[in-house]
Amino acid sequence: MIVTVANQKGGVGKTTTVVNLAAALADLGKSVLVVDLDPQGNATTGLGVSSRTDNPGVYDVLIEDVPVADTVVSVPESETVRLVPASLDLAGAEIELVSMVAREYRLRKALATYLEDHPTDVVLIDCPPSLGLLTLNALVAAEELLIPIQCEYYALEGLGQLIRTVDMVREHLNPSLRISSILLTMTDSRTNLSEQVADEVRAFFGDLVLDTAIPRSVRLSEAPGHGRSGVAYDQNSRGALAYRSAAEEFTHRTIDLRESASEAVQS
Ligand code: ADP
Ligand code: MG
Repeated sequence: MIVTVANQKGGVGKTTTVVNLAAALADLGKSVLVVDLDPQGNATTGLGVSSRTDNPGVYDVLIEDVPVADTVVSVPESETVRLVPASLDLAGAEIELVSMVAREYRLRKALATYLEDHPTDVVLIDCPPSLGLLTLNALVAAEELLIPIQCEYYALEGLGQLIRTVDMVREHLNPSLRISSILLTMTDSRTNLSEQVADEVRAFFGDLVLDTAIPRSVRLSEAPGHGRSGVAYDQNSRGALAYRSAAEEFTHRTIDLRESASEAVQS
């Protein structure tokens, strides 16, 4: 299953969600591949891997046709989480992609080839804060879209544009993409605002919103500085427990439903 985590707003918790869902899904026994599509490389460094090396990364996959398998690295904290790292040159990919053939399909094709030989339960793609060609590649590659929404003022602003982009992708590029979950992030139970925003998002998106919301947690924000997920850094922190619960809920919604659907088809 390929899951893209996108929201063109920066700082809403995309990377934190990718890194911690990856760790939590691995603890649930799933094999996970993280693809860091953000030139800032925060998922890469957050998982304890340097993004300032000459090793090939997602740039080389997108622009130089390097096989994904040649870029995958292991992650210090986990044996079942693997990573396609970002590197500094990824910033140029957005522009270089413009003139390439089948420019929206490059990641999709590369991942399909990789997954044929390397069965992986969940691929999690971290997106940059824009709706450019990198995010488009992620939306075309994915079956599921997870949208983190920060419980702050203007939480819903810009979402219309994201939803329209998703509709366009479904119509023209990837009919099997579906918005599978919305995850409320950085909730603060002490403020009415946070609750109001959460209510507003739930009223608007209904069942798409995961029951689990991720609270603001200092431990989650400290963890990347140690090159670890919050889930591994402080297993019993509120943030870690919330991401574990979100991972269970997400698995239940997506993987399990898909498996029972394919069993039903086969029997
Ligand atoms: P994005 O990838 O959408 O830009 P990040 O995941 O990098 O967002 O989060 C933005 C900032 O907020 C980071 O400094 C991150 O450590 C912090 N952060 C994210 N989620 C939480 C949380 N639940 N509690 C506290 N800090 C968080
Ligand atoms: Mg990010």
